[in-house]
Amino acid sequence: MLSNRQLFLLNTAQTSCSPRLIEIEHAEGVYLYGPDGKKYIDLVSGFAVSNIGHRHPNVLKAISKQLDKYLHVTVYGEFVQAPQVALATKLLSVLPERFDTVYFTNSGAEATEGAMKIAKKFTGRREIVAAEKAYHGSTQGALSLIGNPEYRIAYAPLLPEITFIRYNDLNSLAKITSSTAAVILEAVQGEAGIRVPDVEYMQAVRKRCDETGTLLVFDEIQTGFGRTGKLFAFEHYGMVPDILLLAKGMGGGMPIGAFVANKAVMDVIKDNPMLGHITTFGGHPVSCAAALASLNVILDEHLVEGVARKATLFRQYLRHPAIREIRGLGLMMCLQLASFAQVENISKYCAEHGVIIDWFLHCETALRIAPPLTISDQEIKMACEVILRGLQRYASQ
Ligand code: PLP
Repeated sequence: MLSNRQLFLLNTAQTSCSPRLIEIEHAEGVYLYGPDGKKYIDLVSGFAVSNIGHRHPNVLKAISKQLDKYLHVTVYGEFVQAPQVALATKLLSVLPERFDTVYFTNSGAEATEGAMKIAKKFTGRREIVAAEKAYHGSTQGALSLIGNPEYRIAYAPLLPEITFIRYNDLNSLAKITSSTAAVILEAVQGEAGIRVPDVEYMQAVRKRCDETGTLLVFDEIQTGFGRTGKLFAFEHYGMVPDILLLAKGMGGGMPIGAFVANKAVMDVIKDNPMLGHITTFGGHPVSCAAALASLNVILDEHLVEGVARKATLFRQYLRHPAIREIRGLGLMMCLQLASFAQVENISKYCAEHGVIIDWFLHCETALRIAPPLTISDQEIKMACEVILRGLQRYASQ
């Protein structure tokens, strides 16, 4: 009989030639458990998803309550579904007034797609500006914005009229013109290896968008829901974007995303043509119930308040000559090393010794650290000790 690992390789589509093949049987809090009882501290959070930890009891309760009522009932936007209404209302209550309407999606990429569509229709313009080394999802529209030409070329032709600017470079803002429908930027670049922009840069982007009548779309799919030490990362920059993209940490472990905007912008999808942007499962009631519970946990347990202190703890423990730089904002961090061999071997070593860390799509020489925001001081210490031992062993590679 074939093992689950063999069946995984045989029967499920593979996205790389070297999957990590860590088998998960159970997850709880900051821990993942294998079928052999092996226990891992999760320092990746399923790529910035499990901000409140795995299987938070409040999320499980909310899911279970919704299971007793209804699952899917109809396509998004037709029936009044209480979990969607409650989530939208709560979400808007924690956002600035500019945001007064939410469109729920299944994923981050779909949020990106929706934002591009409303920006083009609202402004009557076709051109979109994105950043080099950006990642906004893998669907064809979102892929058109990917700031790494290798990924675009492989799937060409993609969307026309996309202009790339250098992230955090004031000089390239002149490329935003009165022909630009939208500028789409990550609030902190994630897959580029955690690039934190300057406050002045983000304020200058805002100003340039105002001058040119361009909509500013902030991708907070990785940065959202407390990860950077604010509920949303735009709060660090003293400015407010026009459209906000959310997903990942939003659902407490369930699939959900959203694009959030002002009604004047969002309303362009209501007609001409009617039903021009629809989804069957977007805003699934069970995902909405989970997302509402998750947001309440973040707020009620004051998880955002602990983020900066925990990030400092990581920085205090992780001192080693092999670390060239620690970049990050809050618990969205990376360790810049010298080579991919180091990154690969250290993450393998860490997994063998019970700590999950990973790397980045556009930065193979850095290790990703993005634990659940609920991680304790003791767990941070334990995880860092393992990383330091890995660094020690592979420092010379
Ligand atoms: N935007 C950013 C910044 C992301 O990190 C990701 C996923 O990694 C996405 C968009 C796409 O989200 P999804 O995988 O849910 O489509």
